[in-house]
Amino acid sequence: MFDDVYFSQSGGMDETRHVFLNGNHLEQRMQAQSRFAIGETGFGTGLNFLMAWELFDRIAPKGAFLDYVSVEKYPLSQDEIRKGLSSWRELLDPRLEKMLGQYPARIPGFHRMVFDGRVALTLIFDDANDALPEIVGRVDAWFLDGFTPAKNPDMWTQKVFDSIAALSNDGASFSTFTAAGFVKRGLEQAGFDVLKQKGFGKKRDMLSGVLKKTGATAKEFQNKKIVINGAGLAGTSCAHVLKQYGFNPVLVDPNGVANGASGNEIGLINPRFSAFRDGASDFYAAAFAQTLRNFSHIPDVDYKACGSLHLITNADKEARFSRTVQNWGWGDNQMALLDVQSASDVAGVSLSHSALYLPQSAQISPQKICGYYAANVLFFNTPRDGDIVIHANGAPLMGDYIHTVRGQVSIVESNEQSTKLKTNLCYGGYISAPQNGRHAVGSTFQKWLSHTNILPEDDEANLQKLTQTVDGLGNFKIIGHRAGLRIAAKDHFPVVGRMAENEYVTTAHGSHGILSSLLGAHILADYIRGGIFCVGKSTLNMLAPFRGKKA
Ligand code: SAM
Repeated sequence: MFDDVYFSQSGGMDETRHVFLNGNHLEQRMQAQSRFAIGETGFGTGLNFLMAWELFDRIAPKGAFLDYVSVEKYPLSQDEIRKGLSSWRELLDPRLEKMLGQYPARIPGFHRMVFDGRVALTLIFDDANDALPEIVGRVDAWFLDGFTPAKNPDMWTQKVFDSIAALSNDGASFSTFTAAGFVKRGLEQAGFDVLKQKGFGKKRDMLSGVLKKTGATAKEFQNKKIVINGAGLAGTSCAHVLKQYGFNPVLVDPNGVANGASGNEIGLINPRFSAFRDGASDFYAAAFAQTLRNFSHIPDVDYKACGSLHLITNADKEARFSRTVQNWGWGDNQMALLDVQSASDVAGVSLSHSALYLPQSAQISPQKICGYYAANVLFFNTPRDGDIVIHANGAPLMGDYIHTVRGQVSIVESNEQSTKLKTNLCYGGYISAPQNGRHAVGSTFQKWLSHTNILPEDDEANLQKLTQTVDGLGNFKIIGHRAGLRIAAKDHFPVVGRMAENEYVTTAHGSHGILSSLLGAHILADYIRGGIFCVGKSTLNMLAPFRGKKA
């Protein structure tokens, strides 16, 4: 691509060491800071990341944390990365395999991976010019590694240089393999003192430099006592995720684990669709990709990668879904519009609607996921004090900005016809692909009811909606049901963020709680640890508590 190489085949590792690790004096600097953040333009195969991580493991003090944020417009596939790095595989493992094990689906936007409780990789699949201004957090050292400026000038713009300076801590450094004059001048204009240094191999010069005072300095990391109130998906996911970052939180819930709306036995994993790409769609896209790559590895949570068909039952949906496909920028293997015949072929049963198809989407047991999240976390039925409190219990503090929506799900026995169903079907309501001889058919939406008693008319309404949209699935016998109160915000978007000093909230996950609670947990971890954020500025602002009060 761009008629340039990712790195020199002869000396790729030596080049990274010379240009980026030594060019930024990382060996000395990583030893001296308990938190270190590296930013990169051009992730490519991840070679620079893997070598920075290896250095960090070798020399950083105990308890230190490394943030690495990288932008990449044309992400490589896992196979391409494996092939590209095959010559150095032994030197790069076990980190290479760990990275590939969590490598995200190639969906535009932010993706967060956490390794060994001490390294967070934030990989952003977008153009550097658009992605850098979205980053929230501060960087100590920059690796500027796009293809050569002569052939790929779009990567080396003043906007990129200014964004880099704006995201830098006091004394932040950069280095790059190029010595192009306009790159030097651009970085100087952004505020860096730039030096020419000896380049790698045949290259005569390269550039490195340091940013003059910005006033922002890296914070020292402090491990505080964290209390999470509420043990549904929102709370248990926080407990699980905070442990991944090296914290040791406790969970408090008088009702035990997953006893509210999170206790359903089958749940679907789908993003919430919208016509445009914005902070909200980026949130669901990132949450979807993260949920799939994390959950597919977990045993005994009834994970089934069956795909889902979103039936196009009216003109409004037709217009919206086709814009989703256009604007979200997912590949054909991630999202596609299917005509009636193709949709029926994929479903394994005859359908009378065309559909939006998500082949990677899945189903899982929310109840079992909560149990998995809460395993090995200290649990209390009675209140506890902490240095930091996370409200994951519906946040009584949010006032009338949030409300509950009752939902009853019916569990039906699969029959001769319905066992042929291969995917989840969504049509306003939904039926899950068969698992253990059963389907979930859901769900009612009742803002006006606040009890969780089972209503026979709700089961009827669920089945009626199904048979009105999909005929030919046979007659169903109801063998179970469950009603819960989901929490939702006025603008139908979750509330995740800081409410006050040492006080955080994660709530209003509505009917996409499996996905959104998990990404919400990573966001709160980023607030608490003070690291690079795993979502962009636009998303963070949309999630903010009290956003409703600003209007
Ligand atoms: N650091 C990489 C490694 O360790 O493998 C090698 C990077 S390679 C020389 C340059 C990378 O920049 C390519 O992966 C390319 O797709 C990416 N790139 C090019 N133009 C870009 C842009 N405008 N925004 C973001 N990434 C871009």
